[in-house]
Parts: sequence; C-alpha cells; structure tokens
Amino acid sequence: MKTQDIQHLYSEYILPTYTQIPVCLVKGKGSRVWDLEGREYIDFFPGWAVSGIGHCHPDVVNAIKHQARKIIHISNNFLNVKQGELAREISVNGFPCKVFFCNSGAEASEGAIKFARRFGQKTGRFEIISFRKSFHGRTLGAMTATGQERIHQGFDPLPQGFRYAEFNDLNSVKALINDKTVAVFLEPVQGEGGVRIASQEFMKGLRKICDDRNMLLMVDEVQSGMGRTGKMFAYQHYDIEPDIMTLAKSLGAGVPIGAFAVHRKVEAGVLTPGSHGSTYGGNPLVCAAALAVFKVIRKKNLLKHTVEMGSYLLEKLKALQVRYPVIAEARGVGLMCALELNEPGAPLVDAARAKGLLINCTQEKTIRIMPAMTVSKRVIDQALGILDTVLSEWKPGGTR
Ligand SMILES: *Cc1c(COP(=O)(O)O)cnc(C)c1O
Repeated sequence: MKTQDIQHLYSEYILPTYTQIPVCLVKGKGSRVWDLEGREYIDFFPGWAVSGIGHCHPDVVNAIKHQARKIIHISNNFLNVKQGELAREISVNGFPCKVFFCNSGAEASEGAIKFARRFGQKTGRFEIISFRKSFHGRTLGAMTATGQERIHQGFDPLPQGFRYAEFNDLNSVKALINDKTVAVFLEPVQGEGGVRIASQEFMKGLRKICDDRNMLLMVDEVQSGMGRTGKMFAYQHYDIEPDIMTLAKSLGAGVPIGAFAVHRKVEAGVLTPGSHGSTYGGNPLVCAAALAVFKVIRKKNLLKHTVEMGSYLLEKLKALQVRYPVIAEARGVGLMCALELNEPGAPLVDAARAKGLLINCTQEKTIRIMPAMTVSKRVIDQALGILDTVLSEWKPGGTR
C-alpha cells in the first residue's frame, strides 16, 4: 500500500472533518516519525501535543503490554488498582484533589462544566466565564465554552450559560460577572489560541475574584499540563491553586485518557453516585500507561530537562526572529513555544514538512513548536536548521 491508496480510503470512507496532510505516518520513536514510504521526520508537534514524552516511549509500551496481558477493562463499579494509584499520582504532584477519569480533553471539560453547574445549583448560579481564542474541545458543552466563532458555526442552538471575556484582561472578566456566575474557565497557556501565556497579575487576579465570590477557578491543562511548560501543571507557575483542573493529551502518551480533578476544598457533596460516569473512563489499560508517564517524568527528571531545553529552544527562536523580519515574536514557556508571523504560516509548515520537520500553524499566523520533553539539543539544532533553511527560502507575500 502507498500513501495514495490510503488517501483513496479516506475520500471514500472517512468523514472530512480534518484538514488532510498527504502523509501517512506509520512509525514513531522519541522525537522522530516515519511515513509509509519510509521518509523520516523530526516531530516538533508530536501527536498534536499528546506524545509529550516522545513517541512509543519504551516504559509506556511495556506498561501497556504488561497490563493488556492481565486485564484491559473492568466496569467502574469495581475497584481498579491502577485508577486509584493514578489519582493519587495527580495529588502527590502538587494538586490535592479527587479525580474523575474520562477519555478525552472534551470530556474533561464537560466534567468540569457539569461539576460547576452542580456546585452552583443551591445558589442558583450556572454561568461560566471562558475566554476568546480559548479551546476546550468539540462536544456541545466544551465547544460552547470555547470562545471561537468558527467552532460554534452551524451548531445552534448552543447550551446556555457561557460568556466570553478577553484573555489577560481582568476588567473584561469583572464586567461579565453577575449573580448567576459560578466559575471562570481558562487555559493557563492558550494552546489552540496561539500559545498565549496568562500573566501573573491575571491569574492571581482571577483567583482573588473567585475567592471573593465563592466562584470556581477551573484550569484547562489538557495541553499545558504533564510537564509541558516545565512544571507538572502550568498553574504552578502562578503561586495559586485552582479549584478544578482538567488533563488529557499527554496524560496517557497516546492512549485515550482524560481527567478532571477537583480540589479537596470544594469537592465534598457535589457529585454523588450516579451523577456522572463513563464506561471506558480510566480503565486499567489507560491508567497503566498514564502511571508510566508520571514515572518517566520523575525518573528522567524531565521537568528540569524541559526548562533547559525550553530556554535553549526559545533562545534559538529569538535568534531567528532577529534575522527574519517575517517573524514578529518568539515566545514560550518550557517546551510550549511559538513564532508569531506577520504572514499566514501554512506555507512555512508545508515547506518544513517537505524538508523533514513537522510543526503546526494555529490562528493563521502562529507557528506552534512543542517538541517532546525528551528532546535533545542535537535534535533541536537539527530542527532549527531546517526552519532556518525554510525561512531563508521563503518569499513572504509571494505564493512560493
Ligand atoms: C486538545 C484540547 C482539548 C480537547 O481535547 P480532546 O481530547 O480533543 O477532546 C481541550 N482543551 C485544550 C486546552 C486542548 O488543547
């Protein structure tokens, strides 16, 4: 089979919801992937930010193999060793919480939204403030929390009770608060929205607003969590604690798992048996994989490594900015980095791929660069070399 044959299967049988890249990836290892024709790529947006510790990490592969031989799935009415251990793992990494496991980021958002609604019920509050350019997933509740018109389009009527403030603008939040407001929901670093980093004043200000009004501060760490920014969870850069945190993407290194974690201070008495559920949520297989992810991060000291590689990468991106006027800004925290361009970035992404480097473009002009946390300086140098070549050959404004 060739890539063309797979493309044919897609045009015949797959609903066209994704922009299709004409590359069929069949193998991955660390920061590298290979396509059906055997071409090798450096993956600097591994698995859409899922393969946070690189593709097919041997410890994760072994954990999955080992667990699959014992038992893959049990009903959530029975006790599950791995689920209990994984929930504890999230707590001991700094967020004292109780956890509900689901299968994706969108479901984690749904869970957080449902928790907030129940939490507000006694006081008649249900409105959630989220942010423009946010991204919380594609299910009805999660996509309504997502503050982007293009994602809502054509799906009316949307659920009620969502309002959108401007990111990093406390006054815009205050202006939306009324006696129905129960929660503020945000990504500490907006991913889809273009790697936009919440300021210290903003995050601390939101915490204070929520404290003053007994509202929930809910952080979506689906993309920023699990070490990506150099802390296990990105909120830990801000010297605050949220009331709810969502996780998914790199939590399972590729197996479908999501979670929402509720702080012990607010957890009691809100969700009761029968109030929420998921058949697959947190089954032994996916929890075994996620436990292996936490272990790898600890064993390999990947938080420290992420800080070091992140500053090395950002320095290099800033050097590119000096040389190429098409780059308006280079920014990032840990290994969650971006180049803001003065031009649409799609041609750059295509040209980089043709030379063996996978990166992502979001919000039209933002190039998202999120290497695996296991990346080395050597691989960063190699990738940046490709980016340099591509930028030097790029004729901004032209059709290329
Ligand atoms: C990807 C993402 C989601 C949605 O996750 P899915 O697993 O695709 O449902 C939610 N929030 C953030 C911040 C994300 O990056």
